[in-house]
Amino acid sequence: MVKKVLIVGGGIAGLSAAWACAQRGMAVELFEQGALPNPRSSSFDEHRVIRHAYGRMAGYTRLMPEAYRIWERLWAATGRSHYEPCGTVVFLRQDDDWYDVVARSLDELSIDHHEVALDEVSTRFPMIREDGLVRVVETGGAGILFPIPILTDLVVLLGGLGIGLHSHCRVDEVDPVKGTVRIGSTIHEGDVVVVAGGAWADRLVSDLRPAVLPSRQAVLYLAPPPALAEAWSKAPVMIDAAAGGGLYALPPRCGTRLKIGDHSFSRRGNPDDDRFATDLDLERLWGPARTALRDFESYTLLERKACFYTVHDREEFQVRPTGPRGWVISACSGHGFKLGPLMGELTARAITGEMDPETLPPIAAGRAIDMAWNIEVPVIAGSTDLTL
Ligand SMILES: Cc1cc2nc3c(=O)[nH]c(=O)nc-3n(C[C@H](O)[C@H](O)[C@H](O)COP(=O)(O)OP(=O)(O)OC[C@H]3O[C@@H](n4cnc5c(N)ncnc54)[C@H](O)[C@@H]3O)c2cc1C
Repeated sequence: MVKKVLIVGGGIAGLSAAWACAQRGMAVELFEQGALPNPRSSSFDEHRVIRHAYGRMAGYTRLMPEAYRIWERLWAATGRSHYEPCGTVVFLRQDDDWYDVVARSLDELSIDHHEVALDEVSTRFPMIREDGLVRVVETGGAGILFPIPILTDLVVLLGGLGIGLHSHCRVDEVDPVKGTVRIGSTIHEGDVVVVAGGAWADRLVSDLRPAVLPSRQAVLYLAPPPALAEAWSKAPVMIDAAAGGGLYALPPRCGTRLKIGDHSFSRRGNPDDDRFATDLDLERLWGPARTALRDFESYTLLERKACFYTVHDREEFQVRPTGPRGWVISACSGHGFKLGPLMGELTARAITGEMDPETLPPIAAGRAIDMAWNIEVPVIAGSTDLTL
């Protein structure tokens, strides 16, 4: 029987796993190399998208109802929600079957979706460039999560549950056979050790490489021109999908700023490096920003920021045993925040034997297809890739 779990990493995955283990009566010690929460973690930002429309990765769409249930449980435990349901609008600039695939997966879950007439775009979304638009799709079951207060509330919640929170404690080594971690010359003993180290995870779990790589990504925080400020304040999450890359825009809501980013992975960088986005970091963002946004030059730049996440070629989460007493949780994509609490919950279920540990890796990789999560399907081939 597992009585004590050691967790490495205080991002959304590690904090969620700690919470799920504590709910099951396990003693938990969590080690974080930075502050709790850590501004350098992938998880720490003003907003993150959550949505059911996963495009061709239908297995992840199937996970979203359970992911939303765990978020609701968190709001109930902390006493406040940090979710703004505002829907998503996807601006498609190439002709393919993305919407047909998405419509099928959303229909199964009774999530709203419809096309927006192209002649309505300039009125409803005056910030978007209309030339080149092929289709515009609006979906429900989506919105914005606010990570900074979420992580802060989680840390407070865990402290109140008596979880050992060790900030500024870098773990040097884990032993997944013994269930221990080493910090300097001190060995901490547990029954199971879970590595949720984000972009640093491969330093403790070496066989994550070469499939899993840290990827330095850039985002921009902007102030829209005054003429568009009101439209942006009411905007949904917006995704502009153009051939060769696209842009996502998170509107300024609930005390956050307008943010844009892209979905092309750099697959380079050292997560210990600084977080200022250089010209090199930003060079892939300007083109999609000018393609998507009308009068882009009239926006005021507030911050250029570099961030890291891990990526995997097929954007599949890696949640798997690393030994008889070890687990790793690695999001491997730009879509790990929304699923972080669910991955923490499922890892705790696997550790206690509530679920068969062998079923978790394919589920986490988004290959589960039926609602019992037990039939594997491949990702549907195609060109429009919208899985943030
Ligand atoms: C620009 C950007 C946009 C994104 N957009 C979205 C989005 O819209 N929707 C979405 O769902 N996801 C999104 N993501 C992805 C999501 O943020 C990440 O997948 C998720 O936050 C990863 O969480 P994590 O807990 O695995 O890693 P992290 O949050 O990085 O946490 C890992 C923690 O482990 C600590 N650590 C590492 N090694 C050690 C060690 N040896 N000892 C002690 N501590 C250690 C680190 O300091 C860090 O705090 C985005 C990511 C980025 C960067």
